[in-house]
Amino acid sequence: MPVTKIAPSKETLERIIQQIPTPFHLYDEGAIRARARALQNAFAWNGGYREYFAVKANPNPRIVQILREEGCGVDCSSLTELMLAQSLGFSGDEIMFSSNMTPANEFEYARALDAIINLDDITHIDFLRRHGGIPEHVCLRYNPGGTLQSGTFVMGNPGEAKYGFTKEQLYMGIRKLMEYGAKSFGLHAFLASNTTDNSYYPMLARTLFELALELHAKTGAPFFMINLSGGIGVPYQPEQNEADIQAIGEGVRLAYEQTLAHTPLAGVRIVTELGRYVTAPAGWLIARAIHEKHIYRDYIGLDACAADLMRPAMYGAYHHITVAGKENAPLNRVYDVVGSLCENNDKFAIQRPLPHIDMGDIVVLHDTGAHGHSMGYNYNGKMRPAEVLLKMDGEFELIRRRETPRDYFATVMNPQLETVIRQMEEKGVRA
Ligand SMILES: *Cc1c(COP(=O)(O)O)cnc(C)c1O
Repeated sequence: MPVTKIAPSKETLERIIQQIPTPFHLYDEGAIRARARALQNAFAWNGGYREYFAVKANPNPRIVQILREEGCGVDCSSLTELMLAQSLGFSGDEIMFSSNMTPANEFEYARALDAIINLDDITHIDFLRRHGGIPEHVCLRYNPGGTLQSGTFVMGNPGEAKYGFTKEQLYMGIRKLMEYGAKSFGLHAFLASNTTDNSYYPMLARTLFELALELHAKTGAPFFMINLSGGIGVPYQPEQNEADIQAIGEGVRLAYEQTLAHTPLAGVRIVTELGRYVTAPAGWLIARAIHEKHIYRDYIGLDACAADLMRPAMYGAYHHITVAGKENAPLNRVYDVVGSLCENNDKFAIQRPLPHIDMGDIVVLHDTGAHGHSMGYNYNGKMRPAEVLLKMDGEFELIRRRETPRDYFATVMNPQLETVIRQMEEKGVRA
């Protein structure tokens, strides 16, 4: 079913903006909890199921804490993501460490937390043995090569992806790991990103189930986990269909019944590492129109830029835009909606039909709850924005303050800058 793009009301946004100036990302606690629950319901048939939220999608501790309360684990891939997990009380098999090209100290830290290690390459076996040691339970990431097709549609291109073991390397890797003392294995693969096609997970699950059986037959290795990773998408465009999570869970169950259910691998835990599916539609970037410009095209300039939300500039990604209070107004203008970077790809929308926008209007960019703030950067010396949580009781909470020039300059340690920063702070100038 195509989705209707809704955002918090103009009244709610104005109430927040009175205290927290734009731009900021706003997250809906109720929506995040509801999405986590829908996901868990869809896989409830598997006793050991767990969602390991992909922290890189939204590494705000308050958001990850909400997901912890909903029973999720975390999927980490860097030192600071592991630190965040530890600070929130995650440990042991509540943490998945799915990294690649991993530095030694990160393996050591992940092992110290007793996280589940998801190895990306056969050479990492000896590397991990030297840096942290081989655990009893270890997961391996598979890359089948080629392309992943759904009918004639190419969903993903694993043959061009840097991740994972080849099938041959999995056999050799498992034998080696068993020699080194590993007792039980997991299998992981991430073959398509941001797909709303309900057949992706069932197809991936069948591939991994059959592969696990084959590996078990040849090596005798027991399997404790099948990790379907991330990749379930959201309809960024209003005319796109939503992924049907219940049907997806059912499709994976069917694949399980037809492959593993009556084999020695029956009862294996199925896990996911979704990020985007859980939080993307529960977030919005809230900005204001501060300039309009009419040359060969009509431009609306926002007080936000690609530093606040990079996906349009980086991938040409579509993010739906509405104007607070003008949700039902006719789309009788065509604008390029842009930020202030000295970089012409700093465009949130290109030739987009929108209602007439007045200066000061609150402009809402949808679906920024995942890979939004976390991809932000500091180009042109722009400050990364605040994050605000809209709570279940209707109140709001600042969960990350906006960066200041002091944050921006913190790593250069220049005494003249310190004087200038202090002057600005004394005058209360806001960046
Ligand atoms: C990015 C990533 C995810 C999450 O991807 P989504 O598109 O947010 O679902 C999960 N697992 C791994 C290993 C990743 O790199």
